[in-house]
Amino acid sequence: MDLSFSQEQLSLARTARDFAERELAPRVQQNDEQEHVPRELIARAAALGLMEGVIPEEYGGSGLDYVSFTLIIEEIAKVDQIFATLMSFPSGLAGAGILRFGSDEQKRRYLVPFVRGERLGGAGVTEPGSGTDVAAMRTTVTRDGGDYVVNGAKAWISNLDHADWFLTFGTLDPSLGRRGICAFIIEKEWPGVEVHPVKNKTGFRPIVTGELRLNDVRVPRENLVGKEGEGFAVAMCAVENGRLAVAARACGVTASCLAESSRYARERIVFERPIAEYQLIQSKIADMVVGLETARALTYRLAWLKDQGLERCRKESSMAKMYATDVLMRSATDAAQIFGAYSASPEYPVSRYFRDAKFFQIVEGTNELHRLLIAEEELGLRQTRPTR
Ligand SMILES: Cc1cc2nc3c(=O)[nH]c(=O)nc-3n(C[C@H](O)[C@H](O)[C@H](O)COP(=O)(O)OP(=O)(O)OC[C@H]3O[C@@H](n4cnc5c(N)ncnc54)[C@H](O)[C@@H]3O)c2cc1C
Repeated sequence: MDLSFSQEQLSLARTARDFAERELAPRVQQNDEQEHVPRELIARAAALGLMEGVIPEEYGGSGLDYVSFTLIIEEIAKVDQIFATLMSFPSGLAGAGILRFGSDEQKRRYLVPFVRGERLGGAGVTEPGSGTDVAAMRTTVTRDGGDYVVNGAKAWISNLDHADWFLTFGTLDPSLGRRGICAFIIEKEWPGVEVHPVKNKTGFRPIVTGELRLNDVRVPRENLVGKEGEGFAVAMCAVENGRLAVAARACGVTASCLAESSRYARERIVFERPIAEYQLIQSKIADMVVGLETARALTYRLAWLKDQGLERCRKESSMAKMYATDVLMRSATDAAQIFGAYSASPEYPVSRYFRDAKFFQIVEGTNELHRLLIAEEELGLRQTRPTR
């Protein structure tokens, strides 16, 4: 594996860093308090091509290689991991699902305006009664003439405020399990669609997340993504991209935990000496340094594998997502400890890192699920080896 970065990759990372420092840093705390990301920030990022990700040029994207995508997401996440989440959506399930399974018309109507930041999307998989066990979903799909009627509710769906449509899922018959699931693009303004945000979340506050209710929603046949019964494959087709983006964001936030902790430890005087001189503080810094480097190694390796043309690398994506987010949880906890009482203050970003870190271990597959996937492959109970 070659882990040296090209001049072009480094230049893209610089563009992302400049944007983050100029546009995002002044607002990040306010966004957290107000539980909102201004839409004009997304428009400005889109104007710089920062929303396009790995979507190919023919559909309005930049066709970035995965290593470049990872570097950009990490740079943005160092300052504002929520904005990095929004930037990764077109390359994640909502965009990549349409890229892989969508019709030409769906790509033209939904994917192209998405990567241009004009009409945004979200992905609705989780339900109130089913998260990890995706195939246990209960949203129903009924054929009606040439169309479909969808009834049910999705829970914890992100981008409820900015999304104009959702790539979402229902079942023709729960007894069919995965084989009954269908994928649809459903527009937020259609009759029967309601969104109900969860207010005052612990972490991930600026991204508006909550319930997507579907009451007798009539969906035209042309909005079925893929074939009937292919929905589970659609839902799983971009898991590597989603997990790569979470791992890259976790590396970004961990890098900021380390930078903030190092700075504070040099400045904070206790017993007449900077706390940086105490070995118990140094031990926490050392763990962050090693954790960050190893998380980056797994994350960049996953990106590099994707750049070699590997469509499926589930074990590698589970390893990167699980490890990088566990490192972040430990680093954010240690950063909060180093800051003492000041970690409770909104004046310092470590309070936000600490509140966000927990949910990194839950989104894009919980870390228990990833441990199971890795172990099952190791034990020969499941085949998730890289395939082209
Ligand atoms: C901020 C935020 C944003 C989100 N955005 C979206 C979104 O945009 N779209 C979307 O579809 N979803 C979204 N989600 C939902 C997220 O994907 C789910 O929370 C996640 O998949 C876990 O599902 P669950 O919360 O229902 O947990 P459950 O599946 O109910 O699991 C509960 C616990 O049991 C554990 N567990 C489950 N099975 C096993 C097992 N076999 N062995 C051991 N332990 C097990 C889990 O790891 C977990 O700890 C979001 C969640 C959050 C917090």
